[in-house]
Amino acid sequence: MSKMIKINSPDVKYTEKFIESRYSYHTTSVSCDGGSYTVTPSTTEFTFRTEQNVPKLGVMLVGWGGNNGSTVTAAVLANKLGLTWRTKTGLKRANYYGSLLEASTVSLGTGPEGEVYVPFRDLLPMVHPNDIVFDGWDISSMDLGRAMERAQVLDWSLQEQLRPHMSKLKPRPSIYIPEFIAANQEHRADNLIPGTKAEQVAQVRQDIRDFKEKSGVDKVIVLWTANTERFCDVVPGVNDTAENLLNAIETGAEVSPSTLFAVASILEGCAYINGSPQNTFVPGAVELAVHHKVFIGGDDFKSGQTKLKSVLVDFLVSAGIKPTSIVSYNHLGNNDGMNLSAPQQFRSKEISKSNVVDDMVQSNPVLYRPGEKPDHCVVIKYVPYVGDSKRAMDEYTSEIMMGGTNTIALHNTCEDSLLASPIILDLVILTELCQRITFCTESDPAFQSFHNVLSLLSFLCKAPLVPQGAPVVNAFFRQRACIENVLRACLGLPPQNHMQLEYRMQ
Ligand code: NAD
Repeated sequence: MSKMIKINSPDVKYTEKFIESRYSYHTTSVSCDGGSYTVTPSTTEFTFRTEQNVPKLGVMLVGWGGNNGSTVTAAVLANKLGLTWRTKTGLKRANYYGSLLEASTVSLGTGPEGEVYVPFRDLLPMVHPNDIVFDGWDISSMDLGRAMERAQVLDWSLQEQLRPHMSKLKPRPSIYIPEFIAANQEHRADNLIPGTKAEQVAQVRQDIRDFKEKSGVDKVIVLWTANTERFCDVVPGVNDTAENLLNAIETGAEVSPSTLFAVASILEGCAYINGSPQNTFVPGAVELAVHHKVFIGGDDFKSGQTKLKSVLVDFLVSAGIKPTSIVSYNHLGNNDGMNLSAPQQFRSKEISKSNVVDDMVQSNPVLYRPGEKPDHCVVIKYVPYVGDSKRAMDEYTSEIMMGGTNTIALHNTCEDSLLASPIILDLVILTELCQRITFCTESDPAFQSFHNVLSLLSFLCKAPLVPQGAPVVNAFFRQRACIENVLRACLGLPPQNHMQLEYRMQ
């Protein structure tokens, strides 16, 4: 059903290897002088190059046997095999709903019959999720067939079809340092890499090489979807620089398992994405990624409540309505919920969820005084009975015209892992695509990649990691427009402006 897109423009050249586009990037700089702003438009000429050859992608998940890890693996398999299954409401078909790249569309422009929409993934050559080869680690030795059953996410008749395939997949032993995740996870930890931190990192590096060799994939991306860890203190001399971090691993100082995985991936030249809220990317890890020119991205999948928040607050503030109180309550009964019932792990999640409205609030000095913020409270409770079917209840109270009050109350129920799985796919597919994009400008003609802190992934993350000094954008539609417009730039197309002037003329 995919159709090739060919750009008919002198600014775009197709070679055997690349799609090469010339692109004028327009920005404005603003200066404030007393009572007035001076706004100066400027234009930078870019050349973008996108490698056309799509590699065979291997994805290694840390926490492969968890709800997300087993669900995303099962979903890809079910799509690849074209599986269908019956439930009490009828025949279901494997799909990729919830994936920005696979299931949402972008407009290419206007054709004889009106606007032409194509799947996002058709814009540029991208890895198809069906072609991803999965592998990974878990501190629990359960094979993926049993892990899928433990997760209680997929319908039973689908599980029965998948089990013969899934049971053959077994997570590799992993790094377990008990004080980083909740004590209630200890009973799962029966599949561990022994030895010192340095030996553990060496084993993870060996695992990556082993997977690459045995599976024949061209590239590996590593993604953390294991339990939320407590935050790590940033300690000068331990994790503040790349050199200190590598030394800390040698001497056995405090380094979290997720940072050990990040270091191993970076040293193997593999992009590393953090799907949980903890501060895996201590300054030393970021510096290491920059030294080795490896992409890192995160933090924490933006899947449910926070995604809605980044839409709703964007809507309210950009409509001139002033949110004054946002109260978010969750209860969930999966293993993630159990882990988050411990205070230190909850704290990581609370921090990750807390800053999501900041950029939207700061964008509107008409509504908010400098430093003023809405009250924002996040509660998470563990309720085993509801399993993976997370409940999120939110109350948004806002001030409207003339002292009026507007209260919106929301109740959201759905399987958490079915929201996270397509995000995992988008994260790795977009990261892989970014590895094939380079660009240069007239003043700096050497081709370069995006910054190693891959902030283009912000759309998919609750607490976006951005290069030092770069603004953090949480607003949903700005994040989405950024990805769409960057991909359009690679095709020499102007940003999507929605002006539709052709329909507004006499
Ligand atoms: P889960 O508990 O079902 O899975 C986590 C897996 O990680 C478990 O199998 C556990 O044994 C394993 N694990 C723990 N420590 C490990 C280590 N050091 N090495 C390897 N494996 C380890 O949880 P889940 O529902 O799959 O969620 C995974 C993570 O994703 C959590 O941190 C969660 O906060 C985060 N997250 C999930 C969602 C979502 O599901 N919608 C959204 C945002 C973030």
